[in-house]
Amino acid sequence: MRLVLLGPPGVGKGTQADLIAHEFDILHYSTGDIFREILKGSSELSGKLAKYIDKGELVPDDIVSETIRRTLSNDGTKSKGWVLDGFPRNLVQAKMLDDLLCNVNQKLDFAIYLRAHRDILVDRLASRRVCSKCGIIYSLQINPPKENSICDECGGELIQRKDDERDTILKRILIFENEFAPIRHYYKDEKILIEVNGIGNVNDVFNHILENLKSGQERRN
Ligand SMILES: [Zn+2]
Repeated sequence: MRLVLLGPPGVGKGTQADLIAHEFDILHYSTGDIFREILKGSSELSGKLAKYIDKGELVPDDIVSETIRRTLSNDGTKSKGWVLDGFPRNLVQAKMLDDLLCNVNQKLDFAIYLRAHRDILVDRLASRRVCSKCGIIYSLQINPPKENSICDECGGELIQRKDDERDTILKRILIFENEFAPIRHYYKDEKILIEVNGIGNVNDVFNHILENLKSGQERRN
């Protein structure tokens, strides 16, 4: 099984990708993990990648695709199947993924899209606070600290990261929506798109994904 899991920031892709990987005994890759792994080494690619990451800039499509190609072409990955979370980010990357799979006689089975209304995501992410001392993450919605603005574990001050401010979040979500629209059409045309409501209990969302994967496979057989 080869899957991509797509959705806006804050929708819980990482959690669902973990559950899917466990259920089907496949590998879970996020671009963040792949980048970190490559940065540990000292290749030409890691040098190029570091230039963008250090500056906090978006990594260009050709470099992202090269990192994905390397990851997917190692033997263990080829034989086991995988779920990619957060890739592709745009149509160029979606087409590159198809091309590189085609080169090794593989293809993508399904693209799962976790849908969520932007207001819910903004509320969710904007309620995030991080301990400035120990780094523990709190959600004022789900697991607030016992005392306002103070870490339960170490007494450090809880802060809101720049990334979690409402304006920044909204900007990231709008960028996602903009880039995602053509990907959605692309996978819909290929008849591999699965859309699931990403808001709700983690297990309910996961069960919806499983049901849709099953019916998708049945339709195909
Ligand atoms: Zn703390």
